[in-house]
Amino acid sequence: MKTVPKERGVFKFSKFNKPVEYVDPGEMIILETEDAVGGQVRDEDTPLEKLDWNKVNKATGPIYINGAEKGDTLVVDILDIEISSRGVILVVPGAGALSKKNFRPKAKIIKIEDGFAFFDAVKLPVRPMIGTIGVAPEDGEFPTGVPYKHGGNLDCVEVCSGARLYLPVSTDGGLFAAGDLHALQEDGELCVSSIEVEGKILLRFNVIKNVSSEWPVVELPDHFSILVADDDLDRAVEIAAEKAVEALMRAKKWSFEESYMFSSLGVKIAVNQVVDPKKGVRAIIPKEIVSIRDLLT
Ligand code: CA
Repeated sequence: MKTVPKERGVFKFSKFNKPVEYVDPGEMIILETEDAVGGQVRDEDTPLEKLDWNKVNKATGPIYINGAEKGDTLVVDILDIEISSRGVILVVPGAGALSKKNFRPKAKIIKIEDGFAFFDAVKLPVRPMIGTIGVAPEDGEFPTGVPYKHGGNLDCVEVCSGARLYLPVSTDGGLFAAGDLHALQEDGELCVSSIEVEGKILLRFNVIKNVSSEWPVVELPDHFSILVADDDLDRAVEIAAEKAVEALMRAKKWSFEESYMFSSLGVKIAVNQVVDPKKGVRAIIPKEIVSIRDLLT
């Protein structure tokens, strides 16, 4: 099977990146990934002031998916996520939900064993997920630390093993890249980092021709989630609500008013993260209500 080493990565999503590997739809591929800080935090005494922020949030790739063209949807099946036995979590003044507080930069090494992470004596079951995952954007370039319509630093807990992610293709081959694995994160990612780990991702791609979603969509066994990000959290919620209501109108042939009513009953809004350059939310809709065709136009 094709394997892309973690050294072959990018720090921005861009149409101008050169592919490091080519795959056919249906073919499986392994991506090895660095942790979000580029492996720079060796121990808890690592001076965080000296971190090279240009080496943060590397995404392995880009991968060219044969046959994917502008206007298509790239379907990404996340078949498995393997994580290292050592993670790191850190706090940095000026960052996170409590960025205005006075505190010191600090890193903590987290041991991971038999499916559990150990924060001092607190034992937490791991839920490995991919923080950064996306394709080349429609316009310009996005640093890998930013979430938007192309994907990017989504930091969404639902982007996990067993999930299927739909991304809008803007250029030939899509130019997919992913990295920034988390052993565990909760909605919000309050302190700005999670348990950051290196690891390997097993993926399979497919392409749906001539339809796409404006924003990334995650599929899990019982629901779809539309992932939206904006500089302003309220505005992100507004866009997510609008996209969900539009999907209800397509699915049920309801009027705007009826679909808007139903959104209070059948659509859940959750927060992905409040700490990245754009804040992220998701609109969760059960599969009994909508199909993927209602989410791709
Ligand atoms: Ca991240």
